[in-house]
Amino acid sequence: MRWVPTDTDIRHLDYDNIFATGDCGTLSQPKLGHIAAIQGEVAASAIAHDLDVEIPVQAYKPEVVCIMNRGVSEATLIASDTLYDGEMDFAVSGAVPYTMK
Ligand SMILES: Cc1cc2nc3c(=O)[nH]c(=O)nc-3n(C[C@H](O)[C@H](O)[C@H](O)COP(=O)(O)OP(=O)(O)OC[C@H]3O[C@@H](n4cnc5c(N)ncnc54)[C@H](O)[C@@H]3O)c2cc1C
Repeated sequence: MRWVPTDTDIRHLDYDNIFATGDCGTLSQPKLGHIAAIQGEVAASAIAHDLDVEIPVQAYKPEVVCIMNRGVSEATLIASDTLYDGEMDFAVSGAVPYTMK
């Protein structure tokens, strides 16, 4: 089974009435809930645009934001868009990210 190929409107490359957000799509790299949510907003705006709602299609600007537990009281928060030619690259470890998670 392969991932669904989409453009940056999260629209199928061959079938313009099909959208594929989240883990099932090719653009979702890495597979994260945060990226699925960003893609959902882009796809919703593209669908609304198709239905003649007067809103622009939201630009696709993916970023990685995730918090990984490290033991029972610490975690590491990563926020980065360098995978997508951005400049944000941030990581912090300790009790605060753990509390956020
Ligand atoms: C152990 C684990 C930890 C993770 N931790 C994080 C984290 O800390 N942060 C983070 O951002 N991401 C995390 N992820 C990744 C995150 O869970 C996924 O990227 C995200 O859930 C993808 O969302 P989705 O909507 O694309 O798919 P899913 O959340 O998998 O939703 C797909 C839905 O489709 C349903 N479905 C499947 N087949 C059919 C069918 N034939 N008909 C109808 N319904 C169907 C499924 O039941 C499911 O409800 C983690 C993943 C795993 C496995």
